[in-house]
Amino acid sequence: MELRVSSGTLSYLGLSNNRCMEDPTTAYLLLPGGPCRGGCVYCPQATGDERWLSRVSWPLMELEEILEPLRHSDLQRTCLQSPDVEGFEDRILEAVDMLELAQKPVSISAPPLSTRTLDMLRDGPVDNIGVGIDAVTDELRASTKKNYSPEVFWHYLGNALDIYGPEHVTAHFIVGMGEGLEEVAHAVYRAAKNGARVSLFSYVSKGEEPDIAYYRQAQLLAHLVEEGHDPFDAISIIKEGDGIEQIIEDGSVFQTQGCPGCNRPYYTTRPGREHRNYPRKPTWEEIQKITKDLKTR
Ligand code: SF4
Repeated sequence: MELRVSSGTLSYLGLSNNRCMEDPTTAYLLLPGGPCRGGCVYCPQATGDERWLSRVSWPLMELEEILEPLRHSDLQRTCLQSPDVEGFEDRILEAVDMLELAQKPVSISAPPLSTRTLDMLRDGPVDNIGVGIDAVTDELRASTKKNYSPEVFWHYLGNALDIYGPEHVTAHFIVGMGEGLEEVAHAVYRAAKNGARVSLFSYVSKGEEPDIAYYRQAQLLAHLVEEGHDPFDAISIIKEGDGIEQIIEDGSVFQTQGCPGCNRPYYTTRPGREHRNYPRKPTWEEIQKITKDLKTR
């Protein structure tokens, strides 16, 4: 069975000569067969070259060829992502059957899967489900995730949580699409109060990214809401800056969040540029830069 494998994963497994500037801690795989029927305006799977997803290239490989290197690697997890393509549920089940040989926990990030498929996956190595809600408001989702009704991914999140339980489902949100912090806070609150983990992505459009200080505020906000603050409290804590120095100094809220062991280097940041989501703990110098940026808002 052929799958696409992220160039960073291939390099880490010793299957390509490319050099990783930041090592992945998860193996990232992608089901081929585009174009994706989802029609999301920001995704090359729907709008352009299916060899690309986010900022990452995905060469085709025989899945069999990576199973042994993956099993012997120290990668902590495998994440299989799927576009909305013909037969994707059966093909995910087929891939997961083979991935059992690699003996790593598996996450699946795909368009809504049926209850039957989720039940079947839970009986195997799949312990986490990723749900790409993407834009934080219904209006933005309706205009950018064009071929789905705006609520469909929220329903899927609920269904995945019913089957997998709290802490085993990750809601993906894209920040910087024109929403405000309040709307980010409400979306995170809705996901977190139902037991989902939350993972933010920084929107990139025609090479433009949201203001870095706004993105850092959104990361802090998501952390505070996940820690139990209501959206209004969380926003006022950030605006006042009360008691957040320690959170900033610790730096972990600026790392990639989501399933255990996932660090997604370069999903939303070009090599050599400041990481929006750090794939590791930020250094002291990086924390100084984050602190300075946050003071600009
Ligand atoms: S958080 Fe990481 S491992 Fe989990 S579904 Fe998202 S990309 Fe995959």
